[in-house]
Amino acid sequence: MGFLIFVAAMIAKKTFNIEAIREDFPILHTSVNGRPLVYFDNGATSQKPKQVIEAIDNYYESENSNVHRGVHHLSQLATNKYEDARRTIQQYINAEHSEEIIFTKGTTDGLNMLAFSIGQTLEVGDEIIITEMEHHSNIVPWQMLCERSGCKLRVAPINSKGELKLDAFCSLLSDRTKVVSVTHISNTLGTINPIEEIIEASHRYGAVVIIDGAQSIQHMKIDVQTLDCDFYLFSGHKVFGPTGIGIVYGKKKIMEVLTPYQGGGDMIETVSFEKTTYNVLPYRFEAGTPNIAGAIALSRAIEYLNTLPLDEIEKYEKELQEYAQNELCKIDDVRIIGKASNKTSVVSFIVDGIHPFDIGTLLDKQGIAVRTGHHCTQPLMKIYGIPGTIRISLAFYNTKEEVDILINALKRSLQMLR
Ligand SMILES: *Cc1c(COP(=O)(O)O)cnc(C)c1O
Repeated sequence: MGFLIFVAAMIAKKTFNIEAIREDFPILHTSVNGRPLVYFDNGATSQKPKQVIEAIDNYYESENSNVHRGVHHLSQLATNKYEDARRTIQQYINAEHSEEIIFTKGTTDGLNMLAFSIGQTLEVGDEIIITEMEHHSNIVPWQMLCERSGCKLRVAPINSKGELKLDAFCSLLSDRTKVVSVTHISNTLGTINPIEEIIEASHRYGAVVIIDGAQSIQHMKIDVQTLDCDFYLFSGHKVFGPTGIGIVYGKKKIMEVLTPYQGGGDMIETVSFEKTTYNVLPYRFEAGTPNIAGAIALSRAIEYLNTLPLDEIEKYEKELQEYAQNELCKIDDVRIIGKASNKTSVVSFIVDGIHPFDIGTLLDKQGIAVRTGHHCTQPLMKIYGIPGTIRISLAFYNTKEEVDILINALKRSLQMLR
């Protein structure tokens, strides 16, 4: 009996088996330019496990219908699956209520929604704080809001290692601060921002705090109630789900009083030509037919993550990043961009005298996918005084052997370019 319990416990324990994980991702077994693919562009988008691909197929083959519309069987099935997906995501990030989960097109869409809806509550002279390491999608919507409303955008600086200067950030806070919108992890530098401190300090001034989780949800366990952030956003496609779907988590008591972002079907309670009243959360922020298959497939990706030992994976990814960074440092003239002491999964670098694009092109010839350029962070590149970097961004299905392949390919490329 004791032995049986022991065996059952062993089976239930989540194990990190990288071979088995790689088997789940069909694209990892393809070739590029005659070489086995080495995919190091996970910061741009992640690959999808077969469970997610099957969920999409299955939806269109046997479940497809519109949600919240019909009494017929398929419409109810689709509605149930769509609402189950919302609950899966609620549980994954430990939101208190399922109606705090809004389906969007992605992080960009979510940030535009918040800039509009929160923007409706702001007045001339109110301030919004972001940081120097933000993605364009956490800069431009706020600039557009400032142009419309007379609010002011303040930018918290970073140090030369690519870490947020927390003191300087705190000194920007005042009674005028209404919104603080910061990235959890920089997509260009890999820096993990001290969001707990940021949230606590901002709340002391009554500011609403938005966390851009586009680069953190796939690398660490998120608990929005423990964090106490007001909003947390991410994109499905960076967390092993499909494109065209994303999440805005928002505290119910804040969301309930915000003006809806878009008008249309499903977001209304009653419509007449004189006056329209709005639906309850979450529907008031989901105008029109949503990406139903996307929501279901995203929840399948989250269920997939739920089968993995996330603590172990977080450690593994950090070790892999440190290994890649150390190996790169051994190569002459390589300069790492972003040396935060608390970072993960991203290594950006440049090689003196050689354009990142040329290196990216030669790596591609050897089957290796990296990103080159400004990574949608042009202001950050300007601060570093460089046009762009070569960025390796890792996922749990990457291996040390792949890093070795990259290092050798990079050495070969540099010999050709010099
Ligand atoms: C990718 C990314 C975004 C934008 O996400 P989309 O999926 O393109 O909408 C925003 N912020 C960060 C930090 C990102 O990495």
